[in-house]
Amino acid sequence: MFTIDYPRVAVHGSDELFPVHRIYCIGQNYAAHAREMGSDPDREAPVWFTKVADAVVPSGSSIDYPAATANLHHEIELVVALSSGGRDLTADAARECIFGYAAGIDLTRRDLLAAARKAGRPWDTAKSFEQAAPLGALHTVDDIGHPESGEIWLDVNGTRRQTGDIADLIWSVADALAQLSTLYTLAAGDLLFTGTPSGVGPLQAGDHAAGGIAGVGTVEIAINRR
Ligand code: MN
Repeated sequence: MFTIDYPRVAVHGSDELFPVHRIYCIGQNYAAHAREMGSDPDREAPVWFTKVADAVVPSGSSIDYPAATANLHHEIELVVALSSGGRDLTADAARECIFGYAAGIDLTRRDLLAAARKAGRPWDTAKSFEQAAPLGALHTVDDIGHPESGEIWLDVNGTRRQTGDIADLIWSVADALAQLSTLYTLAAGDLLFTGTPSGVGPLQAGDHAAGGIAGVGTVEIAINRR
């Protein structure tokens, strides 16, 4: 009838593109951010949500301010990309599924999220929308290994807004993937956004946001003027 291509992501040092199968996300995975969202950061079961796969946009994009929000927020995150998968994985087995890592931004319609949380309703419209997952180039495990510490930051118009260290993840990458694999069959092409450190805040039309993770990579976007 017609063909639909998978969304694809750049791979550092390669002409090949990584095809995106699913985008999984974990919420409140740094204690300081959990507290700023009014939650107890004790190590309870992770908060999971998803984004549509075609929410991915490459670093360097100029994106439109999304519809239906007056409070678009930036969340800089370590993103994990899988080249294989499975279910009920151990942490060690999950680690073997990792293709590489990147810096990404979990764009969030914070006003819709606050309303959903208050009403006990799903997060979909707050988290999963067009261009909601800006993503830098993937850096392969062969290139950078498995990063376990390093500064994570995000600047808006040159001013530092978010800082943290990926060593402070409440659920480590491998533990998060193992947990996730009890809910879904993980597969090649899956991405996991691993949560954001504190300092989330609004983006306005005309803003430029740039962030990164030491030893992993960078991501930047501009929000078009209306
Ligand atoms: Mn997030």
